[in-house]
Amino acid sequence: MFDKILIANRGEIALRVLRACKELGIATVAVHSTADADAMHVKLADESVCIGPPQSKDSYLNIPSLLAACEITGVDAVHPGYGFLSENARFAEILAEHNLHFIGPKAEHIRLMGDKIEAKRTARRLGIPVVPGSDGAIDDEDQAIAVGREIGFPVLVKAAAGGGGRGMKVARTEADLKLALSTARSEAKSAFGDASVYLEKYLEKPRHIEIQVLGDGKGGAVHLGERDCSLQRRHQKVWEEGPSPALNVAGRDRIGETVAKAMREMKYLGVGTVEFLWEDGEFYFIEMNTRIQVEHPVTEMITGIDLVLEQIRVAAGGDLPVVQKDIAISGHAIECRINAENPVTFRPSPGRIQHFHPPGGLGVRVDSAVYQGYVIPPYYDSLLGKLIVHGKTRAECLMRLRRALDEFVVDGIETTLPLFRALVREPAIIDGDYHIHWLEQYLAAGDIKA
Ligand code: ADP
Repeated sequence: MFDKILIANRGEIALRVLRACKELGIATVAVHSTADADAMHVKLADESVCIGPPQSKDSYLNIPSLLAACEITGVDAVHPGYGFLSENARFAEILAEHNLHFIGPKAEHIRLMGDKIEAKRTARRLGIPVVPGSDGAIDDEDQAIAVGREIGFPVLVKAAAGGGGRGMKVARTEADLKLALSTARSEAKSAFGDASVYLEKYLEKPRHIEIQVLGDGKGGAVHLGERDCSLQRRHQKVWEEGPSPALNVAGRDRIGETVAKAMREMKYLGVGTVEFLWEDGEFYFIEMNTRIQVEHPVTEMITGIDLVLEQIRVAAGGDLPVVQKDIAISGHAIECRINAENPVTFRPSPGRIQHFHPPGGLGVRVDSAVYQGYVIPPYYDSLLGKLIVHGKTRAECLMRLRRALDEFVVDGIETTLPLFRALVREPAIIDGDYHIHWLEQYLAAGDIKA
């Protein structure tokens, strides 16, 4: 096992990793920008190192600074969290060149899944169902039209290097395709420095259902059920739950086993998520994330397995904690991503938190790195914290979530709590009857009051 881990991240995930390290008896090193000197992860770590000015590119993404921090503190491994360098294959290789462990998958798998065209090819080869679309990159309009005719309109133009929902354009007709192609290409070029795009059938009302996996890198892998992340705004997840209200046990076992088998074949190492769109009972692979995800607590609550702790164990060469047949899905969990934003305009609301009173009680978990008096800096994403609630049934979970949301007090800044208080009372949400466009349509109707 590792003796000392450097956590190359900030906010709630840095704290989450720190907690797993403490339970494993591993010493921790926090890194921070000058804007984060007062952050909770810095206060709770055994040691901390300032790695640069506020802008992420000069601090949390600054590889030479991170290497220097590793060297000064003598760590043997680095946990990248999510975002920042967590899916940077080159970073994983550079760490290896310096005899440091990267707590994540093998660099070749990060690279493979980071290219969405290659990821889809790999998925297809491993027997995972994919969205119908172009075989590879689309170079010109004629080729795009030919593919569009073959798979049928509407189609979606997507960036090969995509992430965060950027570089995606819908074309409803052949006439739309020209503009969709050129805007997607230029957006992809400016966001990712790579203009390659590909074409996919655009699904009208799918759900987003993803499978959590854990592999030992030696050919052992299990799946830990699914999360339904259909409630999204601008392709960003807002509310995640598990199990999906749309799946039954047989459906879960079938897709879960297909994915786990593929991971065994790849000799996948660490945690990962295979994302699908689901429509009319069919799964369609869209991408794989080779890191711990924001919504991982949903799975932890329904399986009782600490994903971050197991991620560290397998990175150190350990075995899987369980075999597939011993993994049981128990009850229901829902996560709300609470942001420091105006709940109507979604404009970020940085500033000082005057009062902070998180909810508690049975089945209530808050993963957050803020505290009373903390000043949210304007430089990073606006995630204030995650409220995760567990219940024996979905109905109990919703009841508890309603109560927990009503108890949550955050004063001094605006938050998206009012949005969740409204959502948890919506008939479609209570019935579990929603798809990936539901939230945008609901927001457009404008019923939320700040
Ligand atoms: P990113 O890496 O940018 O997050 P994804 O491929 O994961 O991109 O897609 C993000 C979201 O975009 C999905 O959860 C879904 O809401 C929407 N989406 C992606 N592909 C399709 C598709 N073929 N049809 C309809 N919606 C899609």
